[in-house]
Amino acid sequence: MFEEDDLIMISALQHYVFCPRQCALIHIEQVWAESRLTAEGRIMHEKVHEEGNESRGSVRIARGVPLRSLRLGLVGVADVVEFHRVERKVWQPFPVEYKRGKPKPDHSDSIQLCAQAMCLEEMLDIAVPQGALFYGKTRRRHDVIFDDSLKAEVEKTAQNIRALIASGCTPEPVYAKRCESCSLVATCLPKQIGRHKSVKRYLEGVMKET
Ligand code: SF4
Repeated sequence: MFEEDDLIMISALQHYVFCPRQCALIHIEQVWAESRLTAEGRIMHEKVHEEGNESRGSVRIARGVPLRSLRLGLVGVADVVEFHRVERKVWQPFPVEYKRGKPKPDHSDSIQLCAQAMCLEEMLDIAVPQGALFYGKTRRRHDVIFDDSLKAEVEKTAQNIRALIASGCTPEPVYAKRCESCSLVATCLPKQIGRHKSVKRYLEGVMKET
């Protein structure tokens, strides 16, 4: 079991799967840059959280739900947790995460959502077998099943992040298509630094060019 001070953000899982360097820049170096895409995403999350809680028939909807797992060492906030009544006194939690864009080629969003479900399982002592991702661009909701392999990926990714943070080392950039949508591209300089393989060599190259 982890201590409160050792918890890492659930969002770090999504950052790590997207790009370990992005995860290190945000969670080790505390670098953050607002871009049009992140601003749109932030506003979308704020709007969802502001809507408050409500009941619709046999579904209760809670928004901005604090989450924590001491077993996994994770902490965060769920955009929405729906509670579906399955028996007179049994309410089945169903997390829903809102994303600004469209489904990504990797499954980083599913890992983040599954981590939320695993926090709910620990907090409420009930199985949470599925949830959904809602994408603002397509206006579509995609159900996600939290099977054993996805849960294993959550655990492995959390371990990798913990090792990355403990190392204190930010991986070197590797330029890829994902960089085009990364809000940290101006800080990361994947084309410039990646080509010179290290910051030291990049700076040496800059010095030579001047
Ligand atoms: S610009 Fe590319 S290499 Fe750099 S943090 Fe973003 S995704 Fe990773």
